[in-house]
Amino acid sequence: MGLKHRIKSGLRGLYARVLWGTGLHRVVDRCSRPRLLVLYGHCVDQPETNGSLDADMKISGARLEAILTALRRSHDLVTLGEGLERLRSRNAGRSMVALTMDDGYRDNLHDLVPLLERTGARATVFLEGGAVAARELPWLHSLGWLVGRLGATEAAARVTARLGDVPGAPVGVTDAGALKRKLKYDADPIRRDAVLLELVKAEGGDPAGIVDDLYLSREEAQALAASASVEVGGHTAHHPVLGRLGVDAQEREISGGAALLRELLGEEVSDDGQAPLGASGHVFAYPYGRRWDIDEHSPGMVRAAGYTCAVTTHAGVNHRSTDPYLLKRWPIHDGTALHEVGTEASGGFELLRRLGIDLVE
Ligand SMILES: [Zn+2]
Repeated sequence: MGLKHRIKSGLRGLYARVLWGTGLHRVVDRCSRPRLLVLYGHCVDQPETNGSLDADMKISGARLEAILTALRRSHDLVTLGEGLERLRSRNAGRSMVALTMDDGYRDNLHDLVPLLERTGARATVFLEGGAVAARELPWLHSLGWLVGRLGATEAAARVTARLGDVPGAPVGVTDAGALKRKLKYDADPIRRDAVLLELVKAEGGDPAGIVDDLYLSREEAQALAASASVEVGGHTAHHPVLGRLGVDAQEREISGGAALLRELLGEEVSDDGQAPLGASGHVFAYPYGRRWDIDEHSPGMVRAAGYTCAVTTHAGVNHRSTDPYLLKRWPIHDGTALHEVGTEASGGFELLRRLGIDLVE
């Protein structure tokens, strides 16, 4: 971590501790315009089903429950769709916090839903169509499985041997993070996905079994969507970096993911295939979600596919004037500090942003 980043993070923590610790956040909250803070994570820590995932994708149930319980004292806990509707109605009431979880992991039904019921919170879960509805193993998990089995250096060598001497081949890469970045941004996605799948099979892996271990089954996803505590949304078909695809491939990923979601939820599709998504399923999350992961075409395509909004992974709060296809979200995992989330939810960091100081991004 660079010095500038460390100073910023220290100041952020200090400011948040003062605001949250003294109760001043309540004053700031009342004086600030209506807002919706969207939290995002992937799963509640559950060693049996998501033990193989990166630590920053998980939050312990106890920690999540403590954060939601604390936030509930001064904020309404809503789904993303409900929060946006209330912001638009000009009758927002208390400031709002919406919890979202990406991809569709199994704990979301078995661990998250009971936790939501205990805390009176609600959540939005974005489902990867290819994995959940079509049972296809996403490339990131093929890669994760290979690195777990062979180590990063050997996995990179095997991928390079199969990809050949093309741009994106991870020649000489020795650490898992660099291997993931290289394959994420530089490799041709169709070729990469095929090569990784071939390698998993060649090493004796069972792609369908890996999907079943990690992701909600179709029936579990339907049960999740039927829960009063949950709204589900779209997350493309194969979780690509949308901005790296051509316009046609990007369109196929977004509308193809919507079609898989509609089919999963048993919704009617009109002849033109453009029936609006129903009460559940009308919200969307960009895979990876940074501004360099999408391009200028992405928001319009998401809207054309029937979604009413889309979330990024840039931190901040959302107001009535925020572009509904570029909504901000705050990451939540075991390293998340309650006083910092609470300060953002209360409008504390927004107050500084209006003064030209951004301690968050
Ligand atoms: Zn995702």
